[in-house]
Amino acid sequence: MKKEVDIVVIGAGASGLMLGALLKNKNLVILDNNAKIGSKILVSGGGKCNITNGSVKPENFLGQQRFIRNVLKRFDQHSLLSWLAERKLHPIVRKNHQYFCENSAKELVDVLRREISSNIIETNTTVKSVLHEGKFFVVNTNKGVIKAKKVVVASGGLSFPKIGATGIGYDIAKSFGHEVSSLSAGLVGFTVQPEQFFFKALSGIAIEVKITINKKVIKGSLLFAHKGISGPAILDASLYWNKGKIEIDFMPTIDIKSIKSSKKNISRILGLPSRVAKAFLAQLHIEDRACNLLNSKDWGRIETLKSYSFAPAGTFGYSKAEVTKGGVILEEIDASSMMSKKVENLYFLGEVLDVTGELGGYNFQWAFSSAYVCAKGLE
Ligand SMILES: Cc1cc2nc3c(=O)[nH]c(=O)nc-3n(C[C@H](O)[C@H](O)[C@H](O)COP(=O)(O)OP(=O)(O)OC[C@H]3O[C@@H](n4cnc5c(N)ncnc54)[C@H](O)[C@@H]3O)c2cc1C
Repeated sequence: MKKEVDIVVIGAGASGLMLGALLKNKNLVILDNNAKIGSKILVSGGGKCNITNGSVKPENFLGQQRFIRNVLKRFDQHSLLSWLAERKLHPIVRKNHQYFCENSAKELVDVLRREISSNIIETNTTVKSVLHEGKFFVVNTNKGVIKAKKVVVASGGLSFPKIGATGIGYDIAKSFGHEVSSLSAGLVGFTVQPEQFFFKALSGIAIEVKITINKKVIKGSLLFAHKGISGPAILDASLYWNKGKIEIDFMPTIDIKSIKSSKKNISRILGLPSRVAKAFLAQLHIEDRACNLLNSKDWGRIETLKSYSFAPAGTFGYSKAEVTKGGVILEEIDASSMMSKKVENLYFLGEVLDVTGELGGYNFQWAFSSAYVCAKGLE
């Protein structure tokens, strides 16, 4: 391992690799604790990596909107897709304008790897701390010490520790006097209270729902899971949930008034898979019979399925979360270069910052946009 370089990048994930790809001919080293680079890219999007989205707006992110807008506009989804196309990667669009690798997420990692000369990446290298020594930074790793004029923290968040996530980025930020906002698991499923344990028997079934959480309305798929509830709509809801109640409309396409006189059995007309309808009816103590035979008390109970309000017990935690909410606060970072406003030549990129995207390719777009802005700052 080199003893002294101009720039040390901590993390060979989405943002660190993009930075390395954009900064050719620099005396730079990228350190990563994993044996393989881009480990999160490889497991993302069901192995196909949802790289970006056809519509990317600051509103798709939690975090200071002006900062996010300023960074995204310098390297937006169109710039990213053109950059990839120039390197012969042509992601395909699937539902909700989401762009995925055609066959495998490895296609994206390979593009990034080709752009970076391999001798600047040091894998199996865990950063333990970064200190200031005169004009230099001293980066302490499990393989020894490297001195650098500049340090870029691209070490991501806390989610998926089994593929390398650590809190080193937050520790470094704090050690240099940065504020880190409260951290929690995001884009993650919810565990449930005993009253909702009956959900578990429905494990594996997905239904379309409308969720209302802190005035935010989210439509999409909910998946009943062994541990509680998950699926795209729930993952997005987790971004807006701290503690307290959420409300789910389990039958967003059903108008109760219009089914009351039907001669069909209630379980067959709710627009729900039969097992789900029967489980809900059992919970509501309603016998499954023709709609026109149900009384007003029954209908009152059925109405509750359109605004089913309950407090999740918690989340599935960082081991299952796609992202970490919170991070290094943006007020202390220069949006034109990603450099710390507190410590010259110290930079922060990607998920370690207090920016969290919704499900749909927004988090990789953020990693790549922030890497681009940083690369321009370092040129
Ligand atoms: C299962 C899963 C699926 C996802 N799917 C998508 C998706 O389809 N689309 C999307 O937009 N987002 C997705 N995400 C989120 C996305 O992967 C992250 O937001 C993104 O990778 C963040 O990029 P980053 O460069 O900031 O951090 P990372 O990509 O996490 O890279 C950080 C790197 O730093 C390394 N590191 C950490 N600590 C140390 C240390 N002490 N020393 C050395 N190295 C260290 C890590 O091992 C890692 O390689 C998914 C996340 C998960 C977990």
